[in-house]
Amino acid sequence: MAKKDYYELLGIKKGASEAEIKKAYRQMAQKYHPDKGGDGEKFKEINEAYETLGDAQKRASYDQFGHAGSNFGGGRSSGPTHGFGQGGFDFSGANFDFSNLGDIFGGFGDVFGGRQEYTSRAQVGNDIETEIEITFQEMAFGVEKKIRLEKLNKCKECDGTGAEDGKTVNCVRCDGRGRIEVVQNTILGRIATASVCPDCSGLGKTAKHSCLKCHGAGRKKEVEEIKVKIPAGIEDGQRLRLRGRGEAGAKGAVDGDLYLRIRVHSDPHFRRDGKKDIRTSNSIDIVTAVLGGTLDIATLNGNKTVKIPAGTQPGKILVLKGEGVKPEGAVFAGDHLIEIEIHVPEKLSSDEKRLWEELRNLR
Ligand SMILES: [Zn+2]
Ligand SMILES: [Zn+2]
Repeated sequence: MAKKDYYELLGIKKGASEAEIKKAYRQMAQKYHPDKGGDGEKFKEINEAYETLGDAQKRASYDQFGHAGSNFGGGRSSGPTHGFGQGGFDFSGANFDFSNLGDIFGGFGDVFGGRQEYTSRAQVGNDIETEIEITFQEMAFGVEKKIRLEKLNKCKECDGTGAEDGKTVNCVRCDGRGRIEVVQNTILGRIATASVCPDCSGLGKTAKHSCLKCHGAGRKKEVEEIKVKIPAGIEDGQRLRLRGRGEAGAKGAVDGDLYLRIRVHSDPHFRRDGKKDIRTSNSIDIVTAVLGGTLDIATLNGNKTVKIPAGTQPGKILVLKGEGVKPEGAVFAGDHLIEIEIHVPEKLSSDEKRLWEELRNLR
């Protein structure tokens, strides 16, 4: 049984916009939904049609090669399928094995190469990556930073359409289809490939009058100040992704993403130990080590006095519970680990020397 034309199934014209396709699909799906007593077979067909037409790449392929082409769309299909339908060349009727096709043409790339260019990649907004430097304290508690970036933003004047007052007309060159067919003569005969219409960049519409602010581009360079919330506990070198905050896509195409690489400055006092704990090295004098006492140290939460037990050895680690980093989303903070160093005096007064010697004689 021949497959029905997807456009016909949805009751739309070939050059229909994405919005029109979506709208038609919604209406049809509602009408034929089996739960509402609709025709199950028809419902299935409609869904299949939308699966192809609702996806720019699959749709392009379908437009070019018919039902056979639609199977190439996401590259998910395998094995023999229908012959080529209304495509630029005709293998109709045959149960064609596509794996052989690769051999004949020396790889799909050549035959279907047009498809790659077809998806209007140039229109997608660029991703941007930039670095933000923060201090250790800012890492520990999280911080909000403002950055200034010069980037292509959507033109607010024309809402990105490039048209004065948003007024557009059907593109003359492609008659609103967004694509133009290029016929090439090859050793295998004439092969038609579709490519993006250069006049309307695949939109099928052109501006009646170009927007004066962006000269018809739909986007323009701006310096934008962006507020970024950096979560507590971020790692040095970690990247944050702000979806859609990169450069604007042209005329409705997807916006790029903004990637922020976070650089955490090293601190003269604090070091990080894993995700939550922090470490410091603190020196005590030898008498405190032997007899015990106290030590004043800087913690993330201000100065604290720590008890040093008698007989503390060099390298001993004292733990301040809950004085470490509390990463965003964590319930408990980590600990502050204090590595004890013992300072041995290099110069002694004569009194001190006498007392140390007395001590030696005692032992
Ligand atoms: Zn055009
Ligand atoms: Zn504009």
